[in-house]
Amino acid sequence: MGKISIAALGGTREVGKSAVLLEAGETRVLLDYGMKLIPKEHPEFPPIPERVDAVLLTHAHLDHSGSLPRLVSHGKNVPVYGIDVTREYTELLLYDTIKVAKMRKHNIGYGPKDVRKMLNNFRPVEFNVPFKIGNLEVMAINAGHIPGSAMFYLKYDGRSVLYTGDFNMILSRLMPPASIEDIPPTDILITESTYAMKEHPPRSKQEALLKEIVVETLKSGGTAIVAGFAIGRLLEVAMALRSRGFRGRLFLDGMARKSTEITEYFSNRVRDSDDLRLAIRSITSVRNWYVRKKIAKKSDVILTTSGMLEGGPVHYYLKEKKEDENSTVTLTGYQVEGTEGRRLLEEGKMEIEGEETWIMMKVNQLNFSAHTGRSGILSLIKELRPESVMVVHGENSDMFANELEEKMGVSAFSPEIEEEAIF
Ligand SMILES: [Zn+2]
Ligand SMILES: [Zn+2]
Repeated sequence: MGKISIAALGGTREVGKSAVLLEAGETRVLLDYGMKLIPKEHPEFPPIPERVDAVLLTHAHLDHSGSLPRLVSHGKNVPVYGIDVTREYTELLLYDTIKVAKMRKHNIGYGPKDVRKMLNNFRPVEFNVPFKIGNLEVMAINAGHIPGSAMFYLKYDGRSVLYTGDFNMILSRLMPPASIEDIPPTDILITESTYAMKEHPPRSKQEALLKEIVVETLKSGGTAIVAGFAIGRLLEVAMALRSRGFRGRLFLDGMARKSTEITEYFSNRVRDSDDLRLAIRSITSVRNWYVRKKIAKKSDVILTTSGMLEGGPVHYYLKEKKEDENSTVTLTGYQVEGTEGRRLLEEGKMEIEGEETWIMMKVNQLNFSAHTGRSGILSLIKELRPESVMVVHGENSDMFANELEEKMGVSAFSPEIEEEAIF
């Protein structure tokens, strides 16, 4: 039987710069090729592999896609396989990354030309339809994380590997859960572990809280600002509000506007395209400064980026409303240490346009995570019963791997960067 060798070039024992190099016979593929964004610091990148034949891109988030144009700028313009909508979101995020890098004077090692070249070499694939890369047979399986997110199932010489990318096991408003039933028998599982040590609170409770916050804020004459990630998250919020009977206007600002247009076009990639359309109908896009300034003076609901308050139009709204105790700002996910969102939660102040700013508005944090919690990862392992589990994409991936080995009798490990495992 032929050997399969697997090494993580990044994204192990951390979240960020996911990149796994898999070699089967003569064929070498990269599973994701992301970058790590660190608040106030230069981003980090995985090393450039000596030789690679193709990339399998699970989804568009920068911790999975942000280094792809670096392959091109290093003379490796290889095909990138992924679901169609992933190409569009990736395009949006990579051009924004170049813009932000320029502003912060970071050298990310690529420009628009490299992004264009990489995108021209994107090969759209379909869920559950096998295709070949050299010696490998590959299949994408719905991962339930964001529209177009895929797990990759790889087969070589009678052995099989499943790389989960980021996945979710619950039904959300926007996405169906990961299609676990579509995964064929698996020998080696490479799993994300973002929330391996944590369970999420029930989603229905989070939705109820969100509606309550929004309704109460409007009642008191304040503005309800909801901050979230550009891809998926703010649509999830809009769909949740609508499904729970909220019929007021929702303003949408920042990169989420373009991302919503993309999602609408690829509505076959979400759980229910009718639900999506109804939610989008309740949304008004903030297209210019005239509208932005006008709504900031009124009592309205504004859904805007960025999710961790590191930039984006949310800064403008917070500056306008900072002294209004009737207004609220709601964070819809985890806030990484060192981000302005985390500071606002812990210290009640944050930096806006270079100035320390106290925020008197009420600050809320909700959990609309698109990652599975601990029990989801465990049930995937139970379902697949692989002979070996490689744990990546988590701050505590080594702790989780040890626990799997010692308490659950599963052969598991969390590799060091570039440590090679042979199967
Ligand atoms: Zn992701
Ligand atoms: Zn990720």
